Amino acid sequence: MAAGPKALAEKAPCVIVDFDGLKGFSGREVVANLGRRWPGLSTRRIAFPGMARGEVYPEGMARSLEVPATREMLAALLRDAAGDAGVVGLPAILGMHRPDDVHAELVRLTGLAIYEIPTMPPSVPGVRLRELLEQALPNKGVTLIPQQKVTALAFDGDGATLGLADAYGPIRIRARAVILATGRFLSGGLLARRDGIREPLLDLPVTQPESRADWYGERYTDARGHAVHRAGIEVDADMRPLGRDGRPHNARLFAAGVVVAHQDWIRSRSGAGIAIATAYRAVTKAERVVREPAAEPAARS
Ligand SMILES: Cc1cc2nc3c(=O)[nH]c(=O)nc-3n(C[C@H](O)[C@H](O)[C@H](O)COP(=O)(O)OP(=O)(O)OC[C@H]3O[C@@H](n4cnc5c(N)ncnc54)[C@H](O)[C@@H]3O)c2cc1C
Repeated sequence: MAAGPKALAEKAPCVIVDFDGLKGFSGREVVANLGRRWPGLSTRRIAFPGMARGEVYPEGMARSLEVPATREMLAALLRDAAGDAGVVGLPAILGMHRPDDVHAELVRLTGLAIYEIPTMPPSVPGVRLRELLEQALPNKGVTLIPQQKVTALAFDGDGATLGLADAYGPIRIRARAVILATGRFLSGGLLARRDGIREPLLDLPVTQPESRADWYGERYTDARGHAVHRAGIEVDADMRPLGRDGRPHNARLFAAGVVVAHQDWIRSRSGAGIAIATAYRAVTKAERVVREPAAEPAARS
């Protein structure tokens, strides 16, 4: 992606290439937004090799570019689309598993500087990152239990026990500390009910508008935003969720991400920033608890 901002800074002649049948990515839109600042910016639409009819999807295009013949065909089309420009911007489709290789090969075949622009979810860079983490984390001693939700969480004197199940049966995890990072409504970290908003795992109190009628303003475009988007659980300065008595629910419980109240990531466009910053603090604080002596090791049974 780095060649994009570089070309913009240099005002280098650049063509944004988009594709027949690809929704959610428009070269015209990019040019409409940036054209005044970037006079040498233009756009061309082409048909993706082998996918000339109907709708095309970034993931399918990315996987198809792992085949050398597709790269060669696309390279020929890009050379033609670029005309006199030396830089081409593409939606992020340059391979799923070895994007650097796909990118380098297309640069070699075309002689152009080529960069990717992320597309809407599920976007290829997101899938790449996820697959990378799924490969790398187990090597760091992390056990991933994907697609399953913790259904029970209980604390005792020296740790916590989490309960869930996968296709092989029940799983019990012993932990010295727990970070609740279950997200908001879409991910199931908060439940919106007719009678109010709930945190389903521990039934932690949720700061929320007094009544459901106050969740949304009258106007969708209300400049103050909508109160429901600031709902969430309260935490103290150490990112420990607070119980109904205003004290930490448990010294071993921490929270991170958008489950935490008083932030409206939709309006502030800062969902990832909030997730990363709060996770940093929660992990730093949880680490202290984990390092305390005489705690039990985590185990899976
Ligand atoms: C369509 C869309 C586009 C977005 N675009 C942007 C963007 O461009 N930039 C940006 O900064 N932000 C963006 N965001 C916001 C960003 O995705 C979120 O703010 C961010 O992912 C929040 O991170 P989180 O870890 O708190 O929660 P989430 O990413 O929601 O993760 C919570 C996870 O917890 C899991 N979970 C829930 N309950 C349990 C349980 N009981 N046991 C185990 N696991 C559980 C869920 O399955 C989920 O995987 C976008 C969000 C959406 C929906």
